[in-house]
Amino acid sequence: MKKLIPVLLVIFSVQVVKAQMVSVENLQTYVFKLASDDFAGRGTGEKGENKAARYIARELKKLKLRPKGTKKYYQDFSFDLKLMNPENPHGPMIDKGKVNGKNIVAMVDNAAQYTVVIGAHYDHLGLGELGGSREANPQGKIHHGADDNASGVAAMLELARILQTNNQIEWHNYLFIFFSGEEEGLQGSKYWTDNPTIDLQNVDYMINMDMVGRMDSITRNLVIHGVGTSPNLGSLLNIANKNNLSLVFDSSGVGPSDFTSFYRKEIPVIGFFTGQHADYHKASDTPDKINYQGEKEVVQFVLNMVNQLDTMPKLTFQKTVEKQSGRSHFKVTMGIMPDYTFSGNGIRVDGVSDGKPAANAGVKAGDIIIRMGEMDIANMGDYMKCLESLEKGDKRMVQIQRGEETIEVEVTF
Ligand SMILES: [Zn+2]
Repeated sequence: MKKLIPVLLVIFSVQVVKAQMVSVENLQTYVFKLASDDFAGRGTGEKGENKAARYIARELKKLKLRPKGTKKYYQDFSFDLKLMNPENPHGPMIDKGKVNGKNIVAMVDNAAQYTVVIGAHYDHLGLGELGGSREANPQGKIHHGADDNASGVAAMLELARILQTNNQIEWHNYLFIFFSGEEEGLQGSKYWTDNPTIDLQNVDYMINMDMVGRMDSITRNLVIHGVGTSPNLGSLLNIANKNNLSLVFDSSGVGPSDFTSFYRKEIPVIGFFTGQHADYHKASDTPDKINYQGEKEVVQFVLNMVNQLDTMPKLTFQKTVEKQSGRSHFKVTMGIMPDYTFSGNGIRVDGVSDGKPAANAGVKAGDIIIRMGEMDIANMGDYMKCLESLEKGDKRMVQIQRGEETIEVEVTF
């Protein structure tokens, strides 16, 4: 009998290791499916989104997760959709009426006292009629949303599979919430945090994954939001960084994704993001452009972190300094997506919106803005200050570094 024990141990540990492997093939399958034409851009409340919801619920059932919505896996909600008037962006919003969203909620139940919430939104911009598109003529184009946010959903399904079968991580329950209505202003996460299907008091912390499919394989940057929402979170994350990713910390608990709703309920949040790109909110955000190997590293990072936090006491919440939401005091827009992970001098342009001042002046993705009019632009703060000072119709010479060259273009705001 004694001699048998080491043999059994070997078999057992091999199984555990196998269960923990993140599968690139699974990530690919999920992203290609969710971002396919079949799901028509997953616009909130539309047929395509409902189809995606059924697909996700079926996968959760296969993985044997416990339904934790109000109707099995689903939690229905509705909200009034108000869109900006493109003719008069600072005027009153256009009321588009009621939209029906649907969160999907499922649990890895370890009968533990505390629960970790893992979230990602699965909705996207549909055929461009819901607002938020960066296409010049969005109507009728399928906005595939492979990175935004089929990548986050794929990461969640893979985490669900591993956490469900992993018997090492068992001091917490894991609640998976696939949010709807994110693109219309974090509607699904707002609704769930106001109408939670478990007791919020027992939520240890919230993990959010929004756009985790475009890791740059050279810089290996991974942006993490909310690092200031609990003391020592930064050093804990550095310990979990076993594969030496280049972590870019953002301390704020408020940002452009669903983690904000949990921060508002005083829950520590950790939001993952692999960075902006030129296909952001365009029809060209397609599955072939995803870095699946990079996404696998993100999922592995989350697993390391979850593993590490599993045996630790509940995280303490801490308020963070809130960045000014900005937008309201700008009278003009430049129409670029800045690269928030860029640490050099200037503002690196990750993408430009068609038909907006930057695009009209010939600014391209990859350009680095170093001067606008009389102002040197060293960082985001300088850039914001400059934009604040501008009126509609103003013209400024903008100095740009493009590769080896420094060029100047005239931008009309
Ligand atoms: Zn988005």
